Amino acid sequence: MPEIKVLPEEVVSKIAAGEVIERPASVLKELMENSLDAGASKIEIEIKKAGRGLIRVHDDGRGMDREDLRLALGRHATSKLNVFDDIYSLATFGFRGEALYSVFAVSRLKMASFRAGADSGYAIEGEGGRVTAELPAPPVKGTTIEAADLFFNTPARAKFMKSDAAERAQLIKTVEEAALANLGVSFRLVIDGTEILSLPALPGGLWENLKNRAAAIFGRNIYGGLARVEGKTAGMAVYGLVSRPDALSATRANQHFFVNRRPVASALLRQAFYRGYGHMLTGRHPACALFVELDPGSFDANIHPQKRDVKFSSENEIFKTISNTIYEELLSKQTAAVEMTAPAGESRFAAPDVPAYREGAAPPPPAAETGSLFDAPGQAPPQDAAAAPDWRGHDLAYLGQLAKSYLLFESAAGLLVVDQHAAQERVLFEKYLDEFSKGSIKVQPLLVPLETELSRSQMETVLKWRDWLNSAGFEIDQRGPAVALLRAAPALFYFTQPAFAEFLGYLSEVLGEPEKAAEDIKRNIIATMACKKSIKAHDFVKPQEALRLMEDLKKTKDSYHCPHGRPTLFYLSGSDIARRFQRSSAL
Ligand code: ADP
Ligand code: MG
Repeated sequence: MPEIKVLPEEVVSKIAAGEVIERPASVLKELMENSLDAGASKIEIEIKKAGRGLIRVHDDGRGMDREDLRLALGRHATSKLNVFDDIYSLATFGFRGEALYSVFAVSRLKMASFRAGADSGYAIEGEGGRVTAELPAPPVKGTTIEAADLFFNTPARAKFMKSDAAERAQLIKTVEEAALANLGVSFRLVIDGTEILSLPALPGGLWENLKNRAAAIFGRNIYGGLARVEGKTAGMAVYGLVSRPDALSATRANQHFFVNRRPVASALLRQAFYRGYGHMLTGRHPACALFVELDPGSFDANIHPQKRDVKFSSENEIFKTISNTIYEELLSKQTAAVEMTAPAGESRFAAPDVPAYREGAAPPPPAAETGSLFDAPGQAPPQDAAAAPDWRGHDLAYLGQLAKSYLLFESAAGLLVVDQHAAQERVLFEKYLDEFSKGSIKVQPLLVPLETELSRSQMETVLKWRDWLNSAGFEIDQRGPAVALLRAAPALFYFTQPAFAEFLGYLSEVLGEPEKAAEDIKRNIIATMACKKSIKAHDFVKPQEALRLMEDLKKTKDSYHCPHGRPTLFYLSGSDIARRFQRSSAL
């Protein structure tokens, strides 16, 4: 008996589906791409239960007749490819004819469609790859496809789903990217009965429409920091909206790259994009909706099952064009802004050294600040502290303040120089964590709630964390789809509106899944951020306040560092000072 068996069709289809359909957002992406390929000008999406319950996409595209409806469900069924070489010149979104086949294999599917000129509309229904009904449907222009109970027959895959909130965020991002890339198409997204996005197609030109979409999608804070860039070389064009160097974010969450209007996750594009900022990046991340237009024959989008990654035939050219375009545009804008103060003819910016892109080169973007946040509290390197005498054992005499920032004290061991804000942050940080661990955070309701606008996916993250943030003393509410309100905060902290906007924007970008992070890490992150953003005591300090601060600082576990790991103080010992005056003995 032969050992090799040919797998039954049902198993084969599930394996294929596993490659194309990873999560609800992959289904949505495929269905929307088909609608766009069908020439739709309007796409309406309805989602239930984070896509596991229902994904429904309705378009007003060219539709399918009865025969096409049947064929569409078959493997390698496509109307977009005739000979293999077409793969390299196709401008449509999909061409492997696997999407509907795969979705059908792992869901209960209903398709209804009407093609102009046909006698009637037609519908087809089935589940797990088997057709159960074919029936006439009303002659409504276009196509409606519903995939319900996703992964009902592949429980192993269902287990890989993330939390509802994470899947929802991914679904929203999928629609956002389609909407950024297809400005002439209107999109509407409803999740569990709530309208999340409503993006009408506007009659204006490219830039006007792109800006409108970007404002609706990124939220006001990020949108306000975007600049327009545009560049061209032989065979390619680059354009889009990118963060100004003075308006960077904490993570990469708001970066969208497109090649010929197809959303892609390409390391090459990301690296070229970062390189374009040269030295203007400061460990933070720019947002973007960046479009690259190329001859369809010069890249291959078919190397990835979900068509997410692409392979370019001339990587160096692409890398250079993108980085130079961004650099030059940002540079010219910056120079325009500083021209008033800089002497004529003198540029403050050196041309970036743009190296050729190498496969596998270490990506230039620095790690998200998450890493340093996780490491910072409590374990900053103690060398400088070890070298200094323990200031806590000495009586301090307050000498005065320097530059409204540093407090000077005399002690038996020498001159103690304290960074006032760093010391205040350390004290706040430990007080707050102490209240937290005792379950006794004093919460102060705000008479006038602070509000800030977030992107939809940032809002999803904030909502995921709402209960936990509540236990941390922050009462956060949602108004409309994208406005977050702060109704109460720990009494130790005081936020201005812009500080709250940054606090929440930052948190929504660095926080991942609430259930996955360890409690003490979560507490450290929130304490670090809150201390950083909270207004500190006024700049001018009275002597009693200075001494009081040092009493508080004495009681902290690490009085030598602020929560981010910067030093809070240093000593100039008597012998250090004597040495500077070339004296042989101490004071
Ligand atoms: P592909 O998009 O790679 O061709 P799919 O499995 O996604 O493969 O779709 C198969 C075929 O079904 C498409 O080629 C197209 O002819 C047809 N089709 C799918 N969705 C739609 C739609 N919304 N409107 C019109 N035709 C569609
Ligand atoms: Mg398709």
